[in-house]
Amino acid sequence: MKIIAYFILLFLGFGSAGCVGLEQDKDTLFQVSTINALLNGDYKGAMTFGELKRHGTFGIGTFDGLDGEMIGLEGGFYQIKADGIAYPVPDIMTTPFAVVTVFEADRTVTVKDSMSYEGLQRTVDELLPDTTLFYAIEINGMFTYIKTRSVPRQKEPYPPLVEAVKGQTIFEFHDIKGAIVGFRCPDSVKGVNVPGYHFHFITADKKAGGHLLACQLQEVTITVDYTSQFHMVLPQQDSASLQSVPNKDRAEELKKVEQE
Ligand SMILES: [Zn+2]
Repeated sequence: MKIIAYFILLFLGFGSAGCVGLEQDKDTLFQVSTINALLNGDYKGAMTFGELKRHGTFGIGTFDGLDGEMIGLEGGFYQIKADGIAYPVPDIMTTPFAVVTVFEADRTVTVKDSMSYEGLQRTVDELLPDTTLFYAIEINGMFTYIKTRSVPRQKEPYPPLVEAVKGQTIFEFHDIKGAIVGFRCPDSVKGVNVPGYHFHFITADKKAGGHLLACQLQEVTITVDYTSQFHMVLPQQDSASLQSVPNKDRAEELKKVEQE
């Protein structure tokens, strides 16, 4: 009997790995397009979520037409639209910008102190061996306060992101259970991704959330996944949109769209 049970477990283990269909090393950050393309107003979906999930289901991003904030965790993707509601994402939907990985904990700590977003960033910084790698971060637990935003779907011709976020909706949560999901990227990604921290939030019941603007932690578990590899897929641009995209430094615009 023991032998039979052993073989069944082996088969199940093999079967589940096959279903995920992962095409890369687990310590890889997989990214669709660049943050500068998004800042430029390139909101056209470039990859389906069906394809994206083959590279990981933990991450953040947005949707075709900039239709809300994307968060991926526990094997599922969610779309938090400008109405503040989180919707499950079907495989056929597309993303113009997304960052995902296969999340595997390298470091876990429990924090019981009340802490702001700045305090959280300092605490995570202390957990990291160095600042040259990518880090995927999940913060799970109770939050005294959470402030998020989402953006409404844009119409073509698409405005730059700094214009689009002027129509953002702000959401506030008090004494809420949930998860913050995101990444810390090294300074070397300037123009490609967001140097430093970029987080999205979803409630524990997966019904609401958004792009994180502020938070106050109560009691949470912080889990960090060290990620040393980077794989970026660039959508092919048509020549008309290329001509309208000046190659300028968008650091100031990025600050405006990412922060409060
Ligand atoms: Zn965001």
